[in-house]
This record gives sequence, C-alpha cells and structure tokens, in this order.
Amino acid sequence: MSLNHVRPWRDIYRRKSRQIMVGNVPVGGDAPIAVQTMTNTLTTDVAATVAQVQAAAEAGADIVRVSVPDEASSKALKEIVRESPVPIVADIHFHYRRGIEAAEAGAACLRINPGNIGDEARVKEVIKAARDHNCSIRIGVNAGSLEKHLLEKYGEPCPEAMVESGLEHIRILQDNDFHEFKISVKASDVFLSAAAYQGIAEATDAPIHLGITEAGGLVSGTIKSAIGLGNLLWMGIGDTIRVSLSADPVEEVKVGFEILKSLGLRHRGVNIISCPSCARQGFDVIKTVETLERRLEHIKTPMSLSIIGCVVNGPGEALMTDVGFTGGGAGSGMVYLAGKASHKMSNEQMIDHIVEQVERKAAELDAAAEAAE
Ligand code: SF4
Repeated sequence: MSLNHVRPWRDIYRRKSRQIMVGNVPVGGDAPIAVQTMTNTLTTDVAATVAQVQAAAEAGADIVRVSVPDEASSKALKEIVRESPVPIVADIHFHYRRGIEAAEAGAACLRINPGNIGDEARVKEVIKAARDHNCSIRIGVNAGSLEKHLLEKYGEPCPEAMVESGLEHIRILQDNDFHEFKISVKASDVFLSAAAYQGIAEATDAPIHLGITEAGGLVSGTIKSAIGLGNLLWMGIGDTIRVSLSADPVEEVKVGFEILKSLGLRHRGVNIISCPSCARQGFDVIKTVETLERRLEHIKTPMSLSIIGCVVNGPGEALMTDVGFTGGGAGSGMVYLAGKASHKMSNEQMIDHIVEQVERKAAELDAAAEAAE
C-alpha cells in the first residue's frame, strides 16, 4: 500500500509479488518501486557510459541498464560495473555468449529471453552463469519481437500472445530451477501494453518491470508513459519502472519519479506545487518555478513547496506544504512555514530566501528521520 493510508481514497494496493534482488536493490514484494533507465552511449566508451550511469544515479536511478551487443562491450562492462554506484543490468539479445560474459563481468541482472538464445545446452549455460554470479534475469517480452509460432497462432501481437510468450520463457527458467527473475511485456501501444501487463500480473507472481517501449520524445513519451504506467501502478501492478524516452536518461529518471510521486508511491526531493499563473499573479510564477526547480535539484529529502501567484489559492495550498510562498501586492509576498503564515518577503529576495528555507527544512527532516531510526 502507498503511504497515504490516512486518506483511503488515495490508497493503492500493490499486487503481491515475490521479491528478487538486482544486486543490492530488492525488486518486488514490499520493496519500493525501483526506477531504472538505460545508457545510450557506446558501452565500449567506458568513461562516457560511467558518466551517464553516475548522472542517472545522482538523479535517483536505482538500477541502470547497459547494452552489451559484442564481446568488446562485455569487457567494458566489467569496468563500468566497478565504477557504478548502482547495480547494472546487461541488455542481451540472442547471443548466449554475451549473457555468460556479462554475468562474469559482474552484471546484477541479465535482460535476456531464454527462449531466444539457442538450444537447451546454451540456455543451461547462461542460467548456470547467472546462478554462479548472483545475477538475476529479466525476461523482456516485446510486442515488436514476438516468437514466430505465436504470431502464427494469434495472427498479430496481442495481449494473449505476449502473456504466452512470457510464460514460455518463465517455464524455461523454472525447469532449470531458476527463480530469481522478473518480467516485462512491453509494447509501444498503451492499450496493448496495459492489457498484456494485466494478463501477466494474473498469471505469475514474478516481480514486474513496467515500461511502454519506444514511447517517443520528452513531452509525448512522458504523457504516454504517465497514462500507461500510471494506470497500471494505480491498479497496484509494477515493481520497477523504466520510462523510455528519446531523451537523456536523466530525463527518464525524473519522469519516472514524477509518475511515482504523483501516485504517492515514492517520494524524493521537493514536490513543487505551483499555479499556472494569470493576470492576478503578484510575481512571475513561471520564471520563479523554473529557477527553483534548478536550484533545488540537490535536495533529496521528500518535502513539499507551494509557489502560488496570489491569495486566491495561495493560503489554501500553503496549508498542506512544508514551505510556501504566495504573491501579494506591492512587490512582496507571504512566506508560509509548516502551513502557517510566517513573514513577508520581497519578490527580489524571494528565490534565495525560499532556497534557504527549503534547505533548512530538509536538514530538519533528515535529522528527525535519523533520530527516529
Ligand atoms: S493562484 Fe492566483 S495567480 Fe495563480 S492562477 Fe490562480 S488566480 Fe492566477
């Protein structure tokens, strides 16, 4: 369940899944929903890839996936794993050797479809390598690359075909007594994805990796992911998510967190509540919010800040936030602390002042959390 149980209309009951480990990150069960992204550098360019992994981790990524298309990439992976602050998932397609190499290189998880890597002996070798190196597996069913026999049976990619594909791959792992796996059934179509995920959620207790594949650019992909993943998460489905955008991985992480934050499933950093602004605004709301978003990026403590243009909605929103600012007349506004009007502040000094207030509140909340441990 989410953290909002004092308000039952906000409750989300998460599907009960098994828990597996991706390196030191638990996925499934009652673990927080993990946020993932994927690097888009050449894996053989270790410095660039490590820099991207670090930036993603700094933005909050719990797990990062790296493509391993060839032997040189497997070699690079070893160094990337060593430098990475978060567990690395190796993305493998078809080449069973890459799977073995990636497990040996220290990948925390292999994204591989056991039914697509050759005969039984090869599958066994990959599973053995995963087991020997404490490596979990993600079965990644994708509507765009369904097995031929399923396309023949169903005529086109459909939810039933995707679920059947997933279950076939699961069976191979289970037949080899391998249970540290999670599964995704991605499609670029929101309806197909959502239906396939609901089907697989009923058919297995494996943890589920959510994603809408090839979602698009920053704006369109964000909306598509928010609708697709948002609906599933709201139903309680999903143990880890990756938002796929044709954009910087850091943006994927930010969008992933925003989706989880909107549903109260995870909290990280400052949640800014701001009005769209209109002729009544007592200061430039849009510019202020843009600046504050940038200046408060370093805050990881979950807290809320309301930035509201005027008294129409300002005091009401400030009631429910840790820090608030409401525009007033004559070039100044009211600062609210813990829901109460505290003091006036001029518009010119307001940004520095709000940053200070937020930093102070974050330190206070951190200290209280530490004392409670
Ligand atoms: S809170 Fe005030 S400034 Fe903001 S949109 Fe509403 S009326 Fe306009």
